[in-house]
Amino acid sequence: MTPGNADLHCHSTTSDGLMAPAALVERAKANGVDLLALTDHDEIGGLDEAKSAADALGLNFVTGVEISVSWGDDQTVHIVGLNFDHRHPDLVAGLERVRSGRDARAGLMAVELAKAGIDGAYEGALKYVGNPALISRSHFARYIVERGFAPDVKTVFDHWLAKGKPGYVSHSWAELQEAVGWIRAAGGIAVIAHPGRYRLTPAERRELYVAFKACGGQGIEVVSGSSNEAEIREFAGIAREFGFLASRASDFHGPGESWIDLGRMVQLPPDLQPVWANWS
Ligand code: AMP
Ligand code: MN
Ligand code: MN
Ligand code: MN
Repeated sequence: MTPGNADLHCHSTTSDGLMAPAALVERAKANGVDLLALTDHDEIGGLDEAKSAADALGLNFVTGVEISVSWGDDQTVHIVGLNFDHRHPDLVAGLERVRSGRDARAGLMAVELAKAGIDGAYEGALKYVGNPALISRSHFARYIVERGFAPDVKTVFDHWLAKGKPGYVSHSWAELQEAVGWIRAAGGIAVIAHPGRYRLTPAERRELYVAFKACGGQGIEVVSGSSNEAEIREFAGIAREFGFLASRASDFHGPGESWIDLGRMVQLPPDLQPVWANWS
């Protein structure tokens, strides 16, 4: 497969995106995307709707998911899975388990936010949730903006929801090797999502690449919606050094709430092997 405009990372209302799967696919098509993956957080429930919409539009579509992984000393990293069998029992059961802790975590977040002066956050966040199993910090952020505590969701994260801030509650997600294992068991490719967004030292960053490769991880998002030129150079170098396949990813969540729109990223450096190289 040789797409001209692949976008292999975005979110629908099935997790913390703002658009329903079919509407998201239509927007991708209108933006000129010719290979799309929907990668909702810990959830594959939107894939059938997205695939039907993509088929109707003649847009190449592959299955996707973005799995939350606990790493090192209370860090969270995200592993994207691409082009797998979304009915595989290991993957289905693993994701179900990862999702299951979210509601209790949300309750604890609301308690902490109340202490910081923001009341009613659990019920408030729920108003923005499309899929109750997938209540996330993004939904809390939208409620906090609604309440007028901040002008936009990024500011909410900076003041309340990022690690170390009053509404942050640490949580145990999947292990790295579990997440990669489920993706591989289902026949997919595991990809390190937005490698520039983790607060890791250079040494910790390398440990992540080494561990990821050791448990069967194969790809890295060399171009992500939030990455700058220096990061693209850095992660292209990592792809060459570790022999990772390169992915291209907007991480679009919705109009006005994302770094970049669907399919509007720069192209991958041409010498890299893209994740789709062996897809038919
Ligand atoms: P959760 O899975 O509940 O921890 O929520 C993680 C989601 O919050 C990410 O996928 C992003 O959509 C969003 N997020 C995290 N950090 C930020 C940030 N600094 N600005 C805006 N959104 C963020
Ligand atoms: Mn998100
Ligand atoms: Mn992510
Ligand atoms: Mn994402």
